Amino acid sequence: MEAGLYVVATPIGNLRDITFRALDVLGGADRVYAEDTRVARKLLDAYGLKPRLSAYHEHNAEQARAEILAALAQGARVALISDAGTPMISDPGYKLARAAIAAGHRIYPIPGASALLAALVTAGLPTDRFYFAGFLPAKSAARREALDELAAIDATLVFYESGPRLADSLADMAAHLGAREAAVARELTKLFEETRRAPLSALAAHYAAAGPPKGEIVVVVSPPEKGEISDEALDAFLRQALERSGVKDAAHEAAQTLGVPRKRAYARALELKA
Ligand code: SAM
Repeated sequence: MEAGLYVVATPIGNLRDITFRALDVLGGADRVYAEDTRVARKLLDAYGLKPRLSAYHEHNAEQARAEILAALAQGARVALISDAGTPMISDPGYKLARAAIAAGHRIYPIPGASALLAALVTAGLPTDRFYFAGFLPAKSAARREALDELAAIDATLVFYESGPRLADSLADMAAHLGAREAAVARELTKLFEETRRAPLSALAAHYAAAGPPKGEIVVVVSPPEKGEISDEALDAFLRQALERSGVKDAAHEAAQTLGVPRKRAYARALELKA
């Protein structure tokens, strides 16, 4: 193994979903940093691995980052894992990767499980273009605003969600994304794995009546119908784009992402900028 930072995917439930390469790296690294060392220990014990294990999580990230960079500078092979799935996908590690790159170290991806792709392929919705939206805001007003911004995106949407918030989120999605097909994928690769597919409003009604489901959840929502992009949705997208770029580029981005005619996007962008 060469020196560098190894970003190692681990299972999202079923412990068998680990690659031979991930086991080689976790067994061969000089140090393994994990989001929660107790969770990591279970996986490592299952495979008889006893690496030098330390924590890298939200609360010690700055200090741990300095430690990891110092180790990398001395030629160490450092592995990073999270509690489940691929590090940095709604999990810590992004700042560490940036810092390691800035310091000239190599990053080695060790790909494997992620709830995002597992849910996408079980949903039965278009996979050619998808947008990973992570966790929606917990508060309803902020969640609705976020959904308004996502409404125009011409792609399947993928959200991470929790059981207690699921029914409210689905109701907000039905109200703000419109009538769309969706799937709720729960406990993927685990004993009680279940994927429920229905229109958003039906899913919202089901979970409102059934109560919060147990376990981990991904919600996948189909793209908007073609030609369905409303003025409100276009404006919401353009407002965001105009914060980053000028009228021409924002209109171009809207036309590309939303599939609306460039002329329409340009005219709206001009008006919003005025
Ligand atoms: N890094 C992870 C990955 O690559 O999927 C995601 C970490 S994020 C903190 C945890 C969220 O991922 C959960 O709240 C849930 O939305 C989703 N998730 C993780 N495991 C899952 C599973 N087995 N089934 C369904 N969703 C899962």
